[in-house]
Amino acid sequence: MQVMQLHEKTKNFILQFLTGYEDENIFKRFRIGYTADRELFPRYDLVFVPSGFFESEHYGTEASLPVGALPEIEGVPFLYGEDRVEKVGNTVVVYADLVATAFFFLSRYEEICRPQVRDLHGRFPGRESLLFKNGLIDRPILDEYTLLVQRWLREAGIDVPSMPEKIAKVWLTHDVDAPFFGKSLRAFCREVSQGTSWGTAWRLWRQDWEDDPYYTFPLMAELDQACREKADIPVQTVYFLKGGGESPYDKPVYKLKSKGLSKLLDFLVGQNVTFGLHGSYSSGAKRADLYEKREVEQALGKKVFFFRNHFLRSCEPLHLASLESIGITDDFTMGYADVAGFRLATTRPAIWINPISGRLSQLVLHPLSVMDATLADLRYMRLDEEKALEYCTSLFQTVRRHGGEVCLLWHNTSFVQSAYPVNATPWLRDVYRYFLDYLCRLS
Ligand SMILES: [Zn+2]
Repeated sequence: MQVMQLHEKTKNFILQFLTGYEDENIFKRFRIGYTADRELFPRYDLVFVPSGFFESEHYGTEASLPVGALPEIEGVPFLYGEDRVEKVGNTVVVYADLVATAFFFLSRYEEICRPQVRDLHGRFPGRESLLFKNGLIDRPILDEYTLLVQRWLREAGIDVPSMPEKIAKVWLTHDVDAPFFGKSLRAFCREVSQGTSWGTAWRLWRQDWEDDPYYTFPLMAELDQACREKADIPVQTVYFLKGGGESPYDKPVYKLKSKGLSKLLDFLVGQNVTFGLHGSYSSGAKRADLYEKREVEQALGKKVFFFRNHFLRSCEPLHLASLESIGITDDFTMGYADVAGFRLATTRPAIWINPISGRLSQLVLHPLSVMDATLADLRYMRLDEEKALEYCTSLFQTVRRHGGEVCLLWHNTSFVQSAYPVNATPWLRDVYRYFLDYLCRLS
């Protein structure tokens, strides 16, 4: 890997992100530099001194990753540079390289350095991440830096407006993996081969679409709508639809123009929701996103701009670049399947930085706070209802403290309440209801 040239646009984005202010006019009031040249220090109110991360011959390799306990600056861990702050004239000079640290998380740098570390599904495991290993998966350290940056600017004599503690937005998102349980010949054969009686399998196949056990969409729509009406912050519901898939993990593959899916789409269109593409398991490797996107757009009769990968499987840097190239503007995959928390080290949406080219993309990454399966699955966090409530409400409070976004991913199968198939974790339905109430009160 060659030495990285940090683009001016990327550097400015990171500096602005570190201040916490999206408003350009506020950001323009601050003079923040990223330089080791002492002669330039007087030009700035605040200077970050580069650690050499971008110029290192080890850039892009495992040798460039931090080893051992992380240093801290005023109680907040960082990855590169020194834990030193000094005042030079009126300028506050910080030797902790928070620019490189932010780049590390927003570009998914760690994942290109350790390409051999992947789970059964080709995903970088949350438990392998630097954040998890350092006990920081539930601490958005990039957001904690904004508090330090604002304080340092004040120390340099700058008037820095305070920021309200408020959740900026709630995303209620649903991946449509298996809209129906028994409504196909394939499902009928599956049931019979698994010992379900012919009569039951036949009934599951032939009953109305709306009576299928997995058709829990009216309940979900009711809960989401109540939340959108009650909350005094923006709440948006997004359904991610599959447009194909060739892997066994993509089953059941559904046709968006089939009778059942047409009925479902008609129902959802009337619910004031947004649609996105749920990229198939195989889509990243096979570059099938464009084909799948077209399938979804044809069925809806309009363009889609939002994306989430099935199994949260995307996120290889080159896959993100390919999403950008087909017109996706917002990705919602950025959580770990095996552990809930802040994969991007922030609660706020951020523009993805390409770690190979250093270029600032046009793709916004939205932090995924919690997926239903992550909480309960025996392979993942194995929480019970009480522990899940405690863990997640604490995450939500953290988001509120930093003015970030909450993004929930709940599948229709978590709302199942039939005698058969039995919902193995019915409490996931109850906690979703509780979370929505809680978020309305918290906002
Ligand atoms: Zn999925």
